[in-house]
Amino acid sequence: MRRMRNVKIVATLGPSSSDYQTIRKLFDAGADVFRLNMSHGDHSEIAARHTYIRQVEKEVGRPIAILADLQGPKLRVGVFANGSEELEPGQPFRLDLDAAEGDATRVQLPHEEIFAALEPGSMLLVNDGKIRLKVKTCGADFAECEVVVGGTISNRKGVNVPDVILPVAALSDKDRKDLEFVCELGVDWLALSFVQRPKDIWEARDLANGRAAILAKIEKPAAVREFDEILKVSDGIMVARGDLGVELPVQNVPPIQKRLVRKCRAAAKPVIVATQMLESMIESPMPTRAEVSDVAAAIYEGADAVMLSAESAAGQYPIEAVSTMNAVAIEVETDPTYWQVTAASRGGHRETSADAIVAAAREIAEATDIKAICCHSQSGTTARLIARERPKPPIIAMTHVQETSRQLCLTWGLHCVMTSRLERFKQAVVNSVRAARADGFAEESDMIVVTAGVPFNVPGSTNILRIAPCAEKLIFASEPE
Ligand code: PGA
Ligand code: MN
Repeated sequence: MRRMRNVKIVATLGPSSSDYQTIRKLFDAGADVFRLNMSHGDHSEIAARHTYIRQVEKEVGRPIAILADLQGPKLRVGVFANGSEELEPGQPFRLDLDAAEGDATRVQLPHEEIFAALEPGSMLLVNDGKIRLKVKTCGADFAECEVVVGGTISNRKGVNVPDVILPVAALSDKDRKDLEFVCELGVDWLALSFVQRPKDIWEARDLANGRAAILAKIEKPAAVREFDEILKVSDGIMVARGDLGVELPVQNVPPIQKRLVRKCRAAAKPVIVATQMLESMIESPMPTRAEVSDVAAAIYEGADAVMLSAESAAGQYPIEAVSTMNAVAIEVETDPTYWQVTAASRGGHRETSADAIVAAAREIAEATDIKAICCHSQSGTTARLIARERPKPPIIAMTHVQETSRQLCLTWGLHCVMTSRLERFKQAVVNSVRAARADGFAEESDMIVVTAGVPFNVPGSTNILRIAPCAEKLIFASEPE
């Protein structure tokens, strides 16, 4: 079973998509990666979703990636005696550490560290930026603010503080518990929310200790400023446009998205474009033209993956949302302009022999009638280098490491296949041919390109490129051991 597109689809699971049948349908419609959002759902619900995904994976015989998204230091106000209050522009409003129920003049903000970092003039954004508060005076346990933009404030609404680097740990106690829980369950990717600095990534990496790859969500201005350093220490990136568009003026988001996507491709690390991609499909079976255009734009720009949030987690049309993304992707990727743009933005990476081999693999495959590029990859590095080349023929990523095959599901164009541990080169060729034919990429009379590394089973050693016929009797007749 193969997908007829290169860009990957990430579907968030939630109340609309937590039973086995729906998860199976989401996969069939095109979901390659499932996101477990740790901000919602208790551990038993998360574990059930995890079990169903692995069941689907087994049933369809294809690797599926699971991405656990940790909540991160999301700030929230306390509660109100009346549940909510109306704030008028110009009125004073106080935030403090007092746990007493709030009213129209004050509410608790139970984060000591925030008060230490605030300064007169700092802006606090409440409820996705709908309410704006400007700090007038502040101390160790309070901030007297003026309401700049008013609105309804209610229990436990989120607070963003864009212009301050918060002295908070990247991982809260809840995040640490969640991290341990999902790593024990077995997830392939951990997404970190509200990353501010490279150190935040190291911390999670230490705790994960090799059990999952680490993806940094870029949703703070500080993370945009430090992006190059954050990218170096991360395995993947999410352009988290929801909070990014609260912390920065919304019009700043598109150029940041373009820049980040480009840098991730240059680094051969997967990048997800996320949030509000098909927002209207939460309630409607049809997307708006603007949403379709947004999904298409992310694909033209070269994103590895596009993501559904509430559309698949809590909406009324989760399957339709995935089918829509799938249909848009197929259309974009059959447009000659897509391939022109993709080729024009290809960097000339020629630093290592692996770079040279993957470039040659693409050139050979595109110049001749090659049906697939099969690469044998342990750590996944070579597979990601081939994906960075964005070849027109499909890529089959062969590995005997299950974690690698699942993690690679997030990367553009990779059709991941589990294979046996290599002992001989002939075996690499035979396995490639069998995978290409079994999954409908090639027939007996076709040719494929195979890349591998000798010595076998040493990560990062790709040094062989072979153009192989797909007839096994020819392989056995001609292939050296
Ligand atoms: P969230 O992250 O859905 O966890 O908030 C994505 C975003 O902010 O865009
Ligand atoms: Mn977010």
